[in-house]
Amino acid sequence: MSIVVQKFGGTSVGDVERIRRVARIIADTHDQGHQVAVIVSAMGHTTDELVSLAGELVETPAGREFDALLITGEMVSASLMAMTLSSMGYKAVSLNGQQAGFLTEDLHNRARILEIDTGRVQYHLNNGEIVIVTGFQGINSKGDFTTLGRGGSDTSAVALAGALGAERCDIFTDVNGVYSSDPRVVPQAVKLDEITYIEMLELARVGAQVLHPRAVETARHANVQIRVRSTFYTDDMGTVVVGSIESGTRPVSGIASDENQARVAITGVPDQPGVAAKIFGSLASRNISVDMIIQSLNKQEINDIAFTVSLNDLQDALETLEKVKTEVNAESVVYDTDVAKVSIVGIGMIDRPGIAADMFEALSKAKINIKMIATSEIKISCLIQKEQAKQAVQEIHKVFFKDEDGQSIPLVADQKVGY
Ligand code: ADP
Ligand code: ASP
Ligand code: MG
Repeated sequence: MSIVVQKFGGTSVGDVERIRRVARIIADTHDQGHQVAVIVSAMGHTTDELVSLAGELVETPAGREFDALLITGEMVSASLMAMTLSSMGYKAVSLNGQQAGFLTEDLHNRARILEIDTGRVQYHLNNGEIVIVTGFQGINSKGDFTTLGRGGSDTSAVALAGALGAERCDIFTDVNGVYSSDPRVVPQAVKLDEITYIEMLELARVGAQVLHPRAVETARHANVQIRVRSTFYTDDMGTVVVGSIESGTRPVSGIASDENQARVAITGVPDQPGVAAKIFGSLASRNISVDMIIQSLNKQEINDIAFTVSLNDLQDALETLEKVKTEVNAESVVYDTDVAKVSIVGIGMIDRPGIAADMFEALSKAKINIKMIATSEIKISCLIQKEQAKQAVQEIHKVFFKDEDGQSIPLVADQKVGY
């Protein structure tokens, strides 16, 4: 019997009525003859509320106790879902991250999954039960709860699907699939029937929230088929993430923005070998990822080095750089949080000149100043002022999707919807 993993995000399980609706989807899949393992997120904005609650007591909550708090959100939805299924006459059991065998790194708040001991999940599946597992969590080698980073339930689902050898992993959410841009920002966005792993990975990394980057990474390694689809419009088959797309590649598949960025610069750095290695080595040793690096000549034999980091890492980056500043004899460390990164992604831009120029032209027409640029084979990112991010995405979208009519996009917001 084939195993199907289904994941339901926060909006999908946001209230009692929606939990009933999701239970019906799960039950239908079970009725079709599949063994069903489900990953659920915390209800609605529960995780945000837990974060704010901790923030009222502690300036920057982090670590073990923060994780111990955050995992509770998913536990509520898992047990409610299992109860609902049982009341409908199905055998169902809820398991938390530890019970479901998710072993993670020791790191708190953004741990990676190391392995999943699927024994218990498999036992319940073989017993004819529907297994509801809490997303976003696991335990580390000390036996403490860890979380996988915001949006991490997608990764829990894909990793579980890989470990169980599932036939597919359906990511049910509040949009009908992956669009050319966030449909909340660009109402004319176009739904993509297929997107490649590599493009989806880049898009997720540059801010398209619809899938967690590690979920896409895991799917690619474990060869898991992911489909992103709507909880509320189940007739729509959504978007499949695939290895390659045969024909009709367009230059750009998606446009995204990330407002969770900061620009950091270390100025007056002596122009000597080993200095960049020292600076970026120190950041790497604290697990801080760096993007968009620019080195520019300040004056004779003195450089400025600027780069971007995630806002969440800013404090750690500044502390690290203050130490490095003395070691490398630099002048100062400065930063700017009023920035956003806007990116275009597409396999079709390989060997197609002029794509970057078109993007810059769109920004220039909208009088949006570019502070930094970074490119890869399939991605171009520009750092701009934060308040211009949405306008930038809209203007760039007009250039690359000008001939396509956006479909009418059914979006499920926080208000109740009729279904
Ligand atoms: P869930 O709670 O189900 O995990 P998320 O809020 O994490 O849902 O992700 C879904 C949201 O992602 C959508 O409501 C949409 O606003 C946003 N989004 C951003 N970029 C895209 C995109 N390219 N395609 C579809 N949705 C996107
Ligand atoms: N509940 C967690 C969050 O809001 C994990 C998830 O929903 O994927 O980030
Ligand atoms: Mg999500």
